[in-house]
Amino acid sequence: MAVSVLEIFKIGVGPSSSHTLGPWEAATRFRNSIIYPNLTRKAGAVIVDLYGSLAHTGKGHGTDFAILMGLSGYHAASIEQSLLSNILSGYKGLNEIIIEGTHLQFSVDTHINLWKGQHLPFHSNGMVFKLLNTEGHLIQEETYYSVGGGFVQSKEEIRHASSVLDTSIISSAKSITDAHRASGKSLIEIILEHESQFHTYEEIKIQLLEIYGVMLSCAHDGCHTLGILPGGLFVERRAKLKHDKLLPGSSYTNAREWLKEIRSRPYNFRQTIDWVSCFAISVNEQNAAFGKVVTAPTNGAAGVIPAILLYIQTLLEVDTTEEDIVHFLLIAGLVGQMYKHGATISAAAGGCQAEIGVSSSMAAAGLVGTLGGTLEQVFMAAEIAMEHHLGLTCDPVNGLVQIPCIERNSIGAMKAITAAQLAMDSDPMKAKVSLDQVIKSMWETAQDMNEKYRETSLGGLAINVTLPEC
Ligand code: SF4
Repeated sequence: MAVSVLEIFKIGVGPSSSHTLGPWEAATRFRNSIIYPNLTRKAGAVIVDLYGSLAHTGKGHGTDFAILMGLSGYHAASIEQSLLSNILSGYKGLNEIIIEGTHLQFSVDTHINLWKGQHLPFHSNGMVFKLLNTEGHLIQEETYYSVGGGFVQSKEEIRHASSVLDTSIISSAKSITDAHRASGKSLIEIILEHESQFHTYEEIKIQLLEIYGVMLSCAHDGCHTLGILPGGLFVERRAKLKHDKLLPGSSYTNAREWLKEIRSRPYNFRQTIDWVSCFAISVNEQNAAFGKVVTAPTNGAAGVIPAILLYIQTLLEVDTTEEDIVHFLLIAGLVGQMYKHGATISAAAGGCQAEIGVSSSMAAAGLVGTLGGTLEQVFMAAEIAMEHHLGLTCDPVNGLVQIPCIERNSIGAMKAITAAQLAMDSDPMKAKVSLDQVIKSMWETAQDMNEKYRETSLGGLAINVTLPEC
């Protein structure tokens, strides 16, 4: 089954791709599936049942808000931040949705059921949407699964996907390496040849530069916003505090001028590390505050790839063109797709190794590609970055994408830099572990991981760190 590497990046809204964007998309699909004559058969209400990890951490991840938005016909990729913030401030008081002129009862407090400890078959993040008539009888029912990275599948789609063998050339590092050695084509040429079945190069460039633009705005906004993050943990934003220490007395009027200003100054080792942290943290503070972010490959891990892109653009002695940004994202996207198809990018299925581990691996590969490493070094960097995230659990405190998530993006970015430097200084022919082996190991580790550590907030930091909820 051929897939585009561009699919791994989605413009959306925080704080979670699987618990916010996925349910938003599922609610949109349900809204669109309600067709004549069901709406006219005395349709009266919508009920949503959430299972597995969604039932445990959906509240902290904004799942209720996302479902309301999807049922109401809003789109995560295009909604204006001001409208989103406006609805967010009063959505708990809303008690109906309107579909094609029909008013249906729906309140996030009374029409969403959290079935904690219960699972649907196929995937932990199951959702059942029900349309009831005015007497409470079922008219229509649809089941969806949020399978990570904002992707949603029905039961039939999951069954179909698992029965189709992925024979695409991009399905493994080995098949790409073999193709490269047989044809002499570069990694970018191989990716573009694969992508040509979906889009022209111009379309790819437009899409990826738009993705980059959202990443840049997100980091810029995060570096210029102070305050307390929502959700009740009273986590104070740190990116701006760090930023202002690193760039005192600066003057610029937009994000691109900001980058130039950062680049114009010298930094010591500690300050360089601080900048990488600052970029990563800024994006994930925006994510935690329901800001507009790019899933890369998820929202919880959205800060790693922008941090490395901005590191290249501001802190390395490398002049980047639009082409370089496009190539970085193509390579990172390729590696993300390998994990999606060979393992998982869902924390509910594989813990944080599937989020921060994958984003770090993607970023390491993109960094080596930009620095002129060989195809083998690109895959070696991706392998090293994941090798040292294997087994990383997901245990968000109070079910919010804040602790440990925000700092973890900074650590994932630093590991990506270390992995890239190790690979650039190594002979990949002497490597003992391949990227394909590490992806397989990540998936097997995911399957052995206790559910407590797969985005349920039932173990680890989530139970040992007790902080008051407001
Ligand atoms: S701990 Fe990791 S996987 Fe879990 S919500 Fe946070 S960033 Fe995502």
